[in-house]
Amino acid sequence: MRPPSVDALSRSLTDVDLPAPLLVEAARIAIANNDPESARTEALKLQRSLLGPAINATGVLLHTNLGRAPLEYRQQAQATNLEFDLATGDRGSRNNHAASLICKLTGAEAALVVNNCSAAVTLVLAALARDRSVAVSRGELVEIGGGFRVPDVMSESGAHLVEVGTTNRTRVADYQAACRLHDTALLLKVHPSNYRISGFTEEASVAELSALGTPVVADLGSGFIDEACQWLRDGKPSWLRDEPAAKQTLEAGAALVTFSCDKLFGGPQAGVIAGRADLVDACSKHPLMRAFRPGALVLSALQQTALAYLRRDGDSIPFWRMAQTPVAQLLARADALSVGHTVNTMSMTGGGSLPGEEIPSAGVQLDGDVSAGLRGAPIPVIARVRDQTTVVDLRTVHPDDDTLVAKAIVSVI
Ligand SMILES: *Cc1c(COP(=O)(O)O)cnc(C)c1O
Repeated sequence: MRPPSVDALSRSLTDVDLPAPLLVEAARIAIANNDPESARTEALKLQRSLLGPAINATGVLLHTNLGRAPLEYRQQAQATNLEFDLATGDRGSRNNHAASLICKLTGAEAALVVNNCSAAVTLVLAALARDRSVAVSRGELVEIGGGFRVPDVMSESGAHLVEVGTTNRTRVADYQAACRLHDTALLLKVHPSNYRISGFTEEASVAELSALGTPVVADLGSGFIDEACQWLRDGKPSWLRDEPAAKQTLEAGAALVTFSCDKLFGGPQAGVIAGRADLVDACSKHPLMRAFRPGALVLSALQQTALAYLRRDGDSIPFWRMAQTPVAQLLARADALSVGHTVNTMSMTGGGSLPGEEIPSAGVQLDGDVSAGLRGAPIPVIARVRDQTTVVDLRTVHPDDDTLVAKAIVSVI
């Protein structure tokens, strides 16, 4: 029998919600494989290769592969005052909206929003330390996931890295020596977000370094905004331990802080540079800023998140809503699923933050590794496999998705 034409085969797939060229591609692949029957499977495979929703049942709150902080955001197809000053009718700055709210939250004189924290650090170094030296502790020459290495960023930005101290112990005098021997533009403190050095250790604090006179830049990474945690019902949770916060780091004397907006800040992917107005201004005027600037979509989502903090409404920031859900509620939801065994679990923040810190949680445990089946659900459910069991952690699942999770589980057991 002659194989069907690509055209005929692709037309038999029109119930799959994909534009015609992609259905044609699926038909071509199936025919090339001498298996026209597989055209639908190929179309569905193509569909699932596109960006789409997933249910995070891993218990990792900021799962980098699942998009870090979840965020709900809608906008109309409408012009905005992105760079328009409504008072004067003149050109305004895209840095007047979300950035000014970040200043309120952190007490910073000025702030600048870029595409992510990597861009923030790169811009700070390029704008403030090109062809000059930057002192960094050997214990803080960090690699963040995805190949962001402090020494590499330093050389790309044109700043010279001066390593000070040792891996486990760095003192104020080490930074002082660097300032004496080199034309040192900045002292850079990098928060070791994804590892911990313990034992015989010593580090110089931001307060001590700030007293030396050279501007201190603290790359905080996580975007924990204020130790007071006024947006949380029960105040600062114990798992945050001594995570440095932007507000207190600036109060301690840092000239600038940099952080991600999609980690503990719970906003969209963006990065912030906040602190001294003259330094932020120099960053904003650097030619790289043009390449690093976010669009209105990101800035509006960031503004919405910042407003939620100012309203002290942690529950409207999905990350903090997940983080502060009481275990009793999670246990009740697990029971209500009526599938698998209700179990106590341990969640973690993830996203390269708070290494080793666990947050008590709950979910359901299923016998065997059924993770592939759960991933195959209409909205994929991503679970954790441990010792030949599959654990569905409900802390990271939105309560509205519980029904979908239950359905997915029923279909695999
Ligand atoms: C996560 C992190 C970065 C990189 O942030 P992105 O927003 O992912 O680019 C940089 N520095 C530190 C200390 C971090 O924790």
